[in-house]
Amino acid sequence: MKRNALSVLFIGLMCLLFSLQGYSKGKKNPFPSDIHVIIIGFDGWGSYCMPKAEMPVVKRMMAQGCWTLKKRSVLPSKSAPNWASMFMGASPEIHGYTQNNKNAEIPSMVVSENNVFPTVSQLLRKQKENVEIGLFYQWKGLNYVVDTLSINHASYLPIRRRKDWYTEINDSACKYIREKNPSLCTIIYNYPDRYGHANGFDSNEYYESLKVLDKCLDVIIQAVDDAGFLDKSIFIVTSDHGGIGKTHGGKTLKEMETPFVIFGNNIKKGFEISDSMMQYDIAATIAYIFGLDVPQAWIGRPVKTVFEKIRKK
Ligand SMILES: [Zn+2]
Repeated sequence: MKRNALSVLFIGLMCLLFSLQGYSKGKKNPFPSDIHVIIIGFDGWGSYCMPKAEMPVVKRMMAQGCWTLKKRSVLPSKSAPNWASMFMGASPEIHGYTQNNKNAEIPSMVVSENNVFPTVSQLLRKQKENVEIGLFYQWKGLNYVVDTLSINHASYLPIRRRKDWYTEINDSACKYIREKNPSLCTIIYNYPDRYGHANGFDSNEYYESLKVLDKCLDVIIQAVDDAGFLDKSIFIVTSDHGGIGKTHGGKTLKEMETPFVIFGNNIKKGFEISDSMMQYDIAATIAYIFGLDVPQAWIGRPVKTVFEKIRKK
């Protein structure tokens, strides 16, 4: 009797130990260890346009995920400083990229061994094994802010035909996603910005291009589904700046407020983010998803309110 009782107690204790281990593991990392993050950027997509914009896929993502229309650009509200901040988790005073088509105008406060301010791609490359990182973009100016040494596949795809400006980037990115199962893949379209400058940031052409971009989202999501990792993915759809008249770069909210939409694994559904959010918080949010340590020079903070479960350290 005594021996039996001891055996039962022993087995019971072992079961408790195993279940506690599993519990604490689950609590520590609420994301799958092979999580994928897909970032889709629409250059010049300002929040002001959303009431008029016909973007059913974006609106579906908002209903199935989290969003804010009040994320702010860094100043000046131009492309390079803002895409740089999205990758670099810091503001232009820190990373130094203040103008388009230039190297860091102010010396970066910190420079990594890749000779560039630390990017989220670089943190991922250094801190995780066997990661595949891809980038597809249509604007040449991104060449200055991209840390190519940390990226497996960086593809600049200039727009050759104005009629179907989205085909080449979609085809290349989708092929890559299906073949390489990237951990991190960023796709940045040069629209609606081009129509903003040519026809106006409130023009019919601007809104027409948003309809096309919205369809591109479905194409990318389909590629992820085909590749078989849709349920282990988080999608981020966002922008660098908005616009006013036929320009941007200034301090109006039409130029500075841009959407941030996130949906997928471990993301709350139908939740509007009320926290303040800046462009450089995107980098911090991606780093948080992957569980990366970030450099002291980063000032971005992860938007933790979007996650169903958060990391317990
Ligand atoms: Zn831009």
